[in-house]
Amino acid sequence: LNRRLAEFGTTIFAEMSALAVRTGAINLGQGFPDTDGPESVREAAVRALRDGRGNQYPPGPGVPELREAIAEHQAKRYGLTYDPDREVLVTAGATEALAASLLALVEPGDEVIALEPYYDSYAASIALAGGTRVPVTLRSTGPDDPQGPRFRLDLDELRDAVTDRTRLLLLNTPHNPTGTVLTREELAAIAELAVERDLLVVTDEVYEHLVFDGEHVPLASFPGMRERTVTISSAGKTFSFTGWKVGWVTATPELVSAVRSAKQFLTFVSAGPFQYAVAEALALPDSYFHELREDLRAKRDLLAAGLADAGFGVHRTQGTYFVTTDIRPLGESDGFAFCRDLPERAGVVAVPNAVFYDHQDAGAPFVRFAFCKRESVLTEAVARLGTAL
Ligand code: PMP
Ligand code: GLN
Repeated sequence: LNRRLAEFGTTIFAEMSALAVRTGAINLGQGFPDTDGPESVREAAVRALRDGRGNQYPPGPGVPELREAIAEHQAKRYGLTYDPDREVLVTAGATEALAASLLALVEPGDEVIALEPYYDSYAASIALAGGTRVPVTLRSTGPDDPQGPRFRLDLDELRDAVTDRTRLLLLNTPHNPTGTVLTREELAAIAELAVERDLLVVTDEVYEHLVFDGEHVPLASFPGMRERTVTISSAGKTFSFTGWKVGWVTATPELVSAVRSAKQFLTFVSAGPFQYAVAEALALPDSYFHELREDLRAKRDLLAAGLADAGFGVHRTQGTYFVTTDIRPLGESDGFAFCRDLPERAGVVAVPNAVFYDHQDAGAPFVRFAFCKRESVLTEAVARLGTAL
């Protein structure tokens, strides 16, 4: 294994899901729904397979039906217009979109600023691109916050992190693992900074439809941002098909073309039949998106209340699949050790947030639980934690 990758080892998700299988514990570690997405969308995939649509290499940028549906989605939801032929690229999940964007846009030695804690593929993709990651830490407002603690971006810290070598900001809102949704004001300040310092921004918005408090505002919609922003999303979370690995990029023709230059040598094209099904999914009525959100909101509330009862310091989740907890009220301080023991101790698997940090000390006491699971599973998990801890 080369030096660029050696520090990364096996992803925490594979490790924790294997632990769940080995111990028979309830897996609230890896973020994937335990109920598949809409039947009609599955049927659309089957139809595409049977009708022979996409069974041979689809077009490099993605099938036209899906590119049009993505452009339509951005226009209808956010008033952002993208030309489906030149400004949309279909990728193998958001993961490939992120990797291809960084490989295409970062020169060796460039600095890439990312909000810490960050999703694990960010660090590896920055490293593969030869970039240097510069973490800006989201900090907990702490147990004295009257509305309950939340992780916040310090805009001064972000501003101070920009140097002459900064090439791009890698942003994520709604944010995994903290559940923070950046506010319109925070995004406006980030946009101003990007314009002032002439930075590119890659923004990971895969949880765009999973916002329970506040609103999702795409960074590309702020003044001066459309031309410097690569927006990434994916069908995995929005339609509960994380195994399909259909993602996409929207950006200017120049940026899309750059990302495509990298993508063509990573996967060449993305799997065909699922693209037709996701095109249909994006056209589902508003009620679908509303129900998804309300279903997950109830699950968030169930899990957050159960974790609080069990003694965790529960952070506010405004969006995503995840609740981040502080284990210090339980008399613990090492999230790694806590998560390693939790399956035996309580029959539940969680993820130590420290894996998403460069500053290990900052992440040590935090542990993430996923609530994208059936209500009965969450109820059982909460009961086990309440009894065992
Ligand atoms: N970004 C974030 C923040 C994620 O949480 C995930 C995975 N859940 C991804 C990207 C990867 O998405 P995909 O499965 O579409 O590759
Ligand atoms: N994004 C999901 C999570 O954060 C898992 C994705 C993965 O397994 N790579 O749990």
